[in-house]
Amino acid sequence: MKPAIKVIGVPKDINSSFMRGSSAAPPLIREALFSASSNLFSESGLDLDQFGIWEDLGDIEFSGEIEEESFKKIKTFVKDILASDQKLVSLGGDHSVSWPILDAHLDAWDTLDILHIDAHPDLYDSLLDNKLSHASPFARVMETGRVNRLVQIGIRTLNKHQREQAEKFEVEMYQMKDLSKLSSLSFSKPVYCSIDIDALDPAYAPGVSHFEPGGLSTRQAIDYITGFKGRLIGADIVEYNPKRDFHNMTAMVAAKLLKEVIARIYHDNG
Ligand code: MN
Ligand code: MN
Repeated sequence: MKPAIKVIGVPKDINSSFMRGSSAAPPLIREALFSASSNLFSESGLDLDQFGIWEDLGDIEFSGEIEEESFKKIKTFVKDILASDQKLVSLGGDHSVSWPILDAHLDAWDTLDILHIDAHPDLYDSLLDNKLSHASPFARVMETGRVNRLVQIGIRTLNKHQREQAEKFEVEMYQMKDLSKLSSLSFSKPVYCSIDIDALDPAYAPGVSHFEPGGLSTRQAIDYITGFKGRLIGADIVEYNPKRDFHNMTAMVAAKLLKEVIARIYHDNG
């Protein structure tokens, strides 16, 4: 049987507002995943080294096309994967890539619940005059009107504009300062999880463009991803920036999250 879970890299960082570098992330996350320093067992006990669980399709190639075209390319690539009932985990790239990826998912599913883990709400109508900015994907996603719930966890940079956007789109936001009030999460629709590595405290994951102290521990992030009630059907892991990393430690964090996400999708859709 062919593996039903696909992994792709989306090496794109041109829509980053502050620093580039995340386009180099996908191969380093793969390298960390297969590092001999660890193994391929998820915490649930699934051996990701077994044939038939997941398959790496490599990176989407970009060739200097204009942004609208490269976003179309991402959406088409993802759509083709989802068309044959396969599940997808994407490795960024900056967070702008989540918009075309989610757009394709929303075509494939009637509706979705989205769990978005991030230091930032990414709800800017536009940033630096760029509607495709990595600070804007969830504004684009919510404008489709096709999302059942957007639940954000880990936010600690909320400004007036994004607060207004969150109210407009009825986003359920759990800011970092209020996170202890969130006892459990449960979803009724299929769940897509978008993980921005900068949700984690820079102490745990220094390889990100935007250091936002006061964030999640790696343990907390894993527990949110594996602990909610519902069915996980797809995910992305974005914003790992190798330029800022030390000893590939953030690559290892991204690889760990990748492993847990693949295992959860496998268990939920078996
Ligand atoms: Mn983000
Ligand atoms: Mn972020």
